[in-house]
Amino acid sequence: MFETQYNEEMEAEVRRLEAKKRAEEAGHPEWDNACASCGCQVASTDDKYCDACCRTVQT
Ligand SMILES: [Zn+2]
Repeated sequence: MFETQYNEEMEAEVRRLEAKKRAEEAGHPEWDNACASCGCQVASTDDKYCDACCRTVQT
C-alpha cells in the first residue's frame, strides 16, 4: 500500500514538474501549467492540454 502511494506521489510530482516546464516554455513561468498544443494557461496540472485542445487531440 505504501509503495503504491509513494509511486502515485512521484507520478504527481513528475506531472507537476512537466506542467511547470510547459508553462516556462510557453513564456509564462508564473503559470503552473500550459497547454502543450496552443500554449494557453491550464488550471490543473494533471492535464497536458487545455479543454479546447483536449477535444481536438483526442480522436
Ligand atoms: Zn490548448
